Amino acid sequence: SPVLLWFRKDLRLDDNAALHAAIDAGGPVIPVYIREPDMPDVGPLGGAQLWWLHHALAGLKADLKSLGGDLVLVTGKAEDVLVELAEKTGAKTVFVNRAYERTLIDRDIAIALKENGIAIRAFHGQLLHDPKSIRTGSGNPFKVFTPFWNAMQKLGEPAEPIDAPESIPAPEHFPRSESLDGWNLLPTKPNWAIDFAKTWTPGEAGAQEKLSDIIDRELHDYKRGRDFPATDATSSLSPHLAFGEISPARIWHATRGQPQKAAEDVGHFRRELAWRDFCYSLLIEFPKLSEDNWDDKFDPFEWEFDEKEFLAWTKGMTGYPIVDAGMRQLWKSGFMHNRVRMITASFLIKDLMIDWRHGEKWFRDTLVDADPASNPANWQWVAGSGADASPFFRIFNPLLQGEKFDPDGDYVREYVPELARLERKYIHRPFEAPAHVLEKAGIELGKTYPKPIIDHGFARDRALAAYKKLR
Ligand code: FAD
Repeated sequence: SPVLLWFRKDLRLDDNAALHAAIDAGGPVIPVYIREPDMPDVGPLGGAQLWWLHHALAGLKADLKSLGGDLVLVTGKAEDVLVELAEKTGAKTVFVNRAYERTLIDRDIAIALKENGIAIRAFHGQLLHDPKSIRTGSGNPFKVFTPFWNAMQKLGEPAEPIDAPESIPAPEHFPRSESLDGWNLLPTKPNWAIDFAKTWTPGEAGAQEKLSDIIDRELHDYKRGRDFPATDATSSLSPHLAFGEISPARIWHATRGQPQKAAEDVGHFRRELAWRDFCYSLLIEFPKLSEDNWDDKFDPFEWEFDEKEFLAWTKGMTGYPIVDAGMRQLWKSGFMHNRVRMITASFLIKDLMIDWRHGEKWFRDTLVDADPASNPANWQWVAGSGADASPFFRIFNPLLQGEKFDPDGDYVREYVPELARLERKYIHRPFEAPAHVLEKAGIELGKTYPKPIIDHGFARDRALAAYKKLR
């Protein structure tokens, strides 16, 4: 009899365990993607990711068709849709890859299906390793990254990836599918995603291309270069991972066989991939990761919220060039370099003293790689309230961070074009430049580019004073 194959955040044919098991079951396979509008627990996808999803689904549908299959699109509550599809097609089993952010929801869905005589079979593939297999000596999940990473390495390599199938057995008729265009996932007016396609090719082919890029350059300079936003040292795989267009195991195994001189870069890259697993293990342990402080010592923290300052931050108009460049990279491409994510997050939390949850939400809506585990875990890391966090009192100085990691100001010049002609010496501190220097660069502070919305020295003292009250 036919089986249902339920795609979620695993929009790929390569290294897809559920897909292979569905084919092995022997009957026709009916791939389905369900748009679940009322899923507050998982968090609805933000605008940037809806743009991505549109293209990813179009690509997956085309790929499935090329193997003789198709993709059925349906809107509704997952269990209702699956029960209805099972009734229509005679399917008795749903094949699915585990999505750890929705463990609790999936448990309820499995119960509802069982009541209707439908079995669900779930497979691993979202992470490098099954999180249950990485435990402390006493059997608990790790709260600190380094021992987590050590334990992961002791497990050995993640499972060998499986290649995409050559064909997919299809039923005589596929159930009716809704139209992707009818889902209206793309922004209309204003079309803020207009430049996204210059940076990204959503879908499996785009993911494989990004992987080949970094492998072809032998991960050159990854360890050092990953901190410098104007260089292209990192993989840009995160949005593809967020949608499951490539498996982390595929990425891990692709880094085997690099020359000896690349060993440090490879090791560091794998360690970053392991951070993603670590963030998921925190989310499984603490499902309210995006809502509550991991460390409840931070609950009484006295946050400020100045609407005007928050807006200036979102728009990249704070008067701090490195912060503004990051926030504008986000607008332009739905992405921000990791180093700059740390700087902009620190600025929001510690200079503006705005609750990290506002920043987490903004990123969730604007990042193409927004991830239910990595996003809140990293925000809490910066805030100091996280599991294995950077201490709150370590406050980034946006001027020094800019000068250290964007020494020539290339990143700032790219995303804050009104500063492009400013001399190197002042590129991260235009408000200290003498009048004739500004004039020469065509800058009128307060008009063509904002003056700093807050004094960093004052802000730092204020943040530390607020932190002191906690103890
Ligand atoms: P590479 O350097 O090539 O790393 C390879 C992969 O490792 C990444 O694709 C990613 O999957 C993983 N990785 C790297 N760094 C981290 C990290 N610190 N935590 C978890 N996984 C990591 N990453 C997301 O994927 N989604 C998010 O929503 C997200 N929000 C963040 C919010 C803040 C405030 C900060 C400081 C970081 C956030 N990150 C998030 C982590 C990191 O910035 C991105 O994963 C990274 O910039 C992606 O670029 P890349 O693919 O080129 O990374």
